[in-house]
Amino acid sequence: MHKTETTTGTLYVVATPIGNLEDITARAIRVLSEVDLIAAEDTRHSTRLLQHFSIRTPLAACHDHNERDEGGRFISRLLAGDNVALISDAGTPLISDPGFHLVKQARQAGIKVVPIPGVSAVIAALSAAGLPSDRFTFEGFLPAKSVARNSRLELLREETRTMIFYEAPHRLLESVAAMRDVFGAQRLAVLARELTKTFETIKALPLAQLHDWISQDSDQQRGECVILISGFEQEHSVDVDLKSQQIMQLLMAELPVKKAAALAANITGLRKNVLYQWALDNKKPE
Ligand code: SAM
Repeated sequence: MHKTETTTGTLYVVATPIGNLEDITARAIRVLSEVDLIAAEDTRHSTRLLQHFSIRTPLAACHDHNERDEGGRFISRLLAGDNVALISDAGTPLISDPGFHLVKQARQAGIKVVPIPGVSAVIAALSAAGLPSDRFTFEGFLPAKSVARNSRLELLREETRTMIFYEAPHRLLESVAAMRDVFGAQRLAVLARELTKTFETIKALPLAQLHDWISQDSDQQRGECVILISGFEQEHSVDVDLKSQQIMQLLMAELPVKKAAALAANITGLRKNVLYQWALDNKKPE
């Protein structure tokens, strides 16, 4: 690997597979083979990956516990001109994985940081879930304790974007139960489990049914999983009470729908767009 114009090395942030080893990129293999040092979340775990691809680059630990303090060691190597690759146990480093502090320190030190993109469970899950993907929010792991978890979910109750959560298998059932209680039994959810592996499963069901399905099949509580929740949708016609409907009908007989909805909103206190949507849903055919 070229030690370019400057004498400072480059920090490569390299994505690795989340199960299926064929998902590593050719560029990742080349970079991992050519750098001077690989900073790995778990050196024993990564040794197996590197052996599989006959990569003999030395490894050093860079995990949650030492990242902040030991980051300086990698920074010194980079400043001395060595190229370093950062990998985590699976997927893209920094995505619910260590690496943030090292990348931040490197950038602050003026070291070039280059992403070597590849798999991340969040994107793999979203790409196959069939939920709106134009906008989404990645929530990572929910807090493990139920009070903190519920307050986090409460904050998301009216989030309109698709929400994506990582979860540990032993907490899957209680998290889905909490989601059902906060987002409602009918909110559509997708469980994406064991992606890229033999028992890959992608199941879409309303939250109450998804919870029952998981609780009735202990196999669904094994392995790694991503939970996706469809965003909150604005209230529709069912939420417009009878009196408001009558007011809307009277006004619509005399006025354009938009004007009728605006006036009815003033009278009833309901939101204008709710009444407007109700009018569109209930307009008599001409
Ligand atoms: N850095 C990784 C990434 O880019 O996706 C995520 C690491 S995080 C510590 C591990 C979590 O990612 C798991 O608990 C699970 O929620 C999700 N995950 C990782 N691999 C997965 C897979 N093969 N199928 C489903 N979810 C997976």
